[in-house]
Amino acid sequence: MKQVLILSGKGGTGKTTVAGAFARLAAPCVTADCDVDAADLHLILSPEPAERNEFYGGKKAAIDPAKCSSCGRCAEVCRFDAVRREPYSVDRLSCEGCGVCAWNCPEGAISLTGSLSGTWAVSKFRFGVFAGARLEPAEENSGKLVAILKTEAVKAAEAAGAEWLILDGSPGIGCPVLASLGGVAAAVVVAEPTVSGRHDFLRLAGLLKEQKVRGFLLVNKWDLNPGETAELEKAAAGYGFGLLGRAPFDRGVVETLLARETLGERGRTPAAEAVESAWKKLRAALEN
Ligand code: SF4
Ligand code: SF4
Repeated sequence: MKQVLILSGKGGTGKTTVAGAFARLAAPCVTADCDVDAADLHLILSPEPAERNEFYGGKKAAIDPAKCSSCGRCAEVCRFDAVRREPYSVDRLSCEGCGVCAWNCPEGAISLTGSLSGTWAVSKFRFGVFAGARLEPAEENSGKLVAILKTEAVKAAEAAGAEWLILDGSPGIGCPVLASLGGVAAAVVVAEPTVSGRHDFLRLAGLLKEQKVRGFLLVNKWDLNPGETAELEKAAAGYGFGLLGRAPFDRGVVETLLARETLGERGRTPAAEAVESAWKKLRAALEN
């Protein structure tokens, strides 16, 4: 089973559109949405409903009103303004779980408890098996949730004997991206031909080089700036990336997404053909 991770320097470059199209082209496969902070791959893959598993990330403080003497010490020491006064309680959205209030409470009225940070589930969809997660608002530890999701997706792929595991990664170079890199055969970076797009790409290419992950580039909306497209491809070649081609600006992409389908599912459009060609190139490169 080969893991292919789709990445981008920032959101909105077409990363999830490409991941959805690859999931269709690789079918039957296992697909996971590792962009847990802004999960949206499920919108076009429409997985079957499944029982959701709870994910407990960091800890949060809680005040036992029976023990609290209303001395106010916890509110004084909390640097995140997470303690409400009269009666004393903790705003769990603001609490960072640092524990300073508990150390300072003279009555031992504060405890740190696990906080429900998100949920994850694995279920069938029309091209195989889908693993998806959702982080609760203002919750952190998305890297830990991505690691859990990846473990479950790998298990599902092994159980199904799937040839491909397609992973929709997070944008940028943060913790969730690092958590999704382990064990991947290749990372496909979807980039747009702008100066900032090239800057974002270079950061990501540096990370992939450092992590010794084989990289590939797919330029989206290349025809909006052919000069920058050439610069992107030159930079990618300098990092040893494989070039998967260029997808043009295509109004058919929006229509496909509005219909909650994957690119190419409603028929052949210029961008759908470019992404299918990219998939064929990638598959050929990974089979060698
Ligand atoms: S420090 Fe403890 S006793 Fe004092 S107000 Fe806070 S919870 Fe209550
Ligand atoms: S754990 Fe830290 S952030 Fe949370 S209420 Fe206590 S002092 Fe504030």
